[in-house]
Amino acid sequence: MTLLIKKYQKRCRILTKKLNKIKENQAYTVWEENIALPTQVPIHTPSSPDAAKEATTEQGILKSSGNLKRRPSLEFRKKCFKDRFQQKIKQGNDSIQELIKSFYEDDINSRIGAGKKQYVKKFGIIKQKRYLLDSVKNLHKKFLEENPNILISYVTFTRLRPFWVYLPRDDRETCACMAHTNIDLMILALKKNKIVDIRNYRDMLHVLCCDKYNKKCVGRDCKTCKNRVISYNEFNNTDEIEYHEWCRDKKKLSSKEINIVKKFTRKIMPKDLILKLEHSLPKFFIHTVNILNQHQAVTLLKESLNHDETLLHMDFSENYSYKFAEEVQSLHFGGSRGQVSLHTVVAYLKEGRETVNHCLCTVSECTRHDSPAVWAHLQKALQFVFEKCPYITTAHILTDSPTSQYRNKQIFYILTQLRDTFPSLKLVTWNYQESGHGKGAPDGIGAVVKRTADHQVKCGRDVGGFFNIPCSCSRKY
Ligand SMILES: [Zn+2]
Ligand SMILES: [Zn+2]
Repeated sequence: MTLLIKKYQKRCRILTKKLNKIKENQAYTVWEENIALPTQVPIHTPSSPDAAKEATTEQGILKSSGNLKRRPSLEFRKKCFKDRFQQKIKQGNDSIQELIKSFYEDDINSRIGAGKKQYVKKFGIIKQKRYLLDSVKNLHKKFLEENPNILISYVTFTRLRPFWVYLPRDDRETCACMAHTNIDLMILALKKNKIVDIRNYRDMLHVLCCDKYNKKCVGRDCKTCKNRVISYNEFNNTDEIEYHEWCRDKKKLSSKEINIVKKFTRKIMPKDLILKLEHSLPKFFIHTVNILNQHQAVTLLKESLNHDETLLHMDFSENYSYKFAEEVQSLHFGGSRGQVSLHTVVAYLKEGRETVNHCLCTVSECTRHDSPAVWAHLQKALQFVFEKCPYITTAHILTDSPTSQYRNKQIFYILTQLRDTFPSLKLVTWNYQESGHGKGAPDGIGAVVKRTADHQVKCGRDVGGFFNIPCSCSRKY
């Protein structure tokens, strides 16, 4: 195939050369004719007043005929090429642009910022910020591997990055998972003491796996890379080194003990730290392969959704504190400021041939986030879905997995009771995302709702309760 293409390319080149020669010859003849004609015409003596005029016209013709022969300048050609290229990107390759955009927005390549201030406005479009989970160079490689039919240069790939997708370094990681962060902190401590040359878990996966997006490689099943190890430099094991670690801890609050997460600074011998890192690697690889598997399964589920199926991706958003346009000073102190809890859902439904997503947010004055609260919010979400599509028989629910909210025995009881409220429901699946990696589309909805409320406050209105809102409007779509 490639041989055939080369052969035809060569032929094309020969033909264009011939064509150019013919064109050049034609240009020469025109040039000669133009010269010949005026030289024959003047019969006047050179002293005549018209002679000078004739001469100038002759020069003019010479000049113009000379232009016919000359090729366009390099800059002009470059500009033409650039214009054509940009036109190609603008018009013909819309699908490629869309493909790259959706690739950047994929949850495995970037994560959504959950904060209400993490948005960007450009060209009148407001978008929630996303942060890349890998360098653009690696993502470009991954894109080319996933789409072998598309040839796109690295420069074009970077140029087509949507303005709301940020590079990983632009953000302080506030929602990172503990497993990933602890590995990063250990590697950082070793790197500081010049024991390893890698800087973070991404570098480590790059060293240990042929392809860090391949489940076989990350699952340590690949024959080529399963025996690879991290290389350590020589070190002095007599001095202790410092490293940080995130750990769960218990804190006494009046009579109750609550679980908190705390960052500890510890001192350890370098060898022990290396052993600790090596010991935590198998767990880390299982964690990473789970993320890859889950992402693949969810993407497949979204793509292959049937008309009688729905996928509800849901999460609790951070509570919203009431705000008033004019606040008395005492509101700032004590527990005067009321709060509402926000539960956000993205409902995926098959409408016609396409999968359509509906974003909804249920708001409640009860700030509990436990299973009874989940049940109350879920009922509203399912009611909305049944209003849209009454013939739904299967509901897939996708959530993150905190034990206090979604992953507990009460939720399983709720699952059995769903049929009483929604008799047409025949199958319900509850899919838990890997812990610490549950960020997704619902977080964006929470941010939009809070921003809208903040905007109302800025415009002089109060956001201080449900007083003026009719019951059905407490649900914002
Ligand atoms: Zn993680
Ligand atoms: Zn491999």
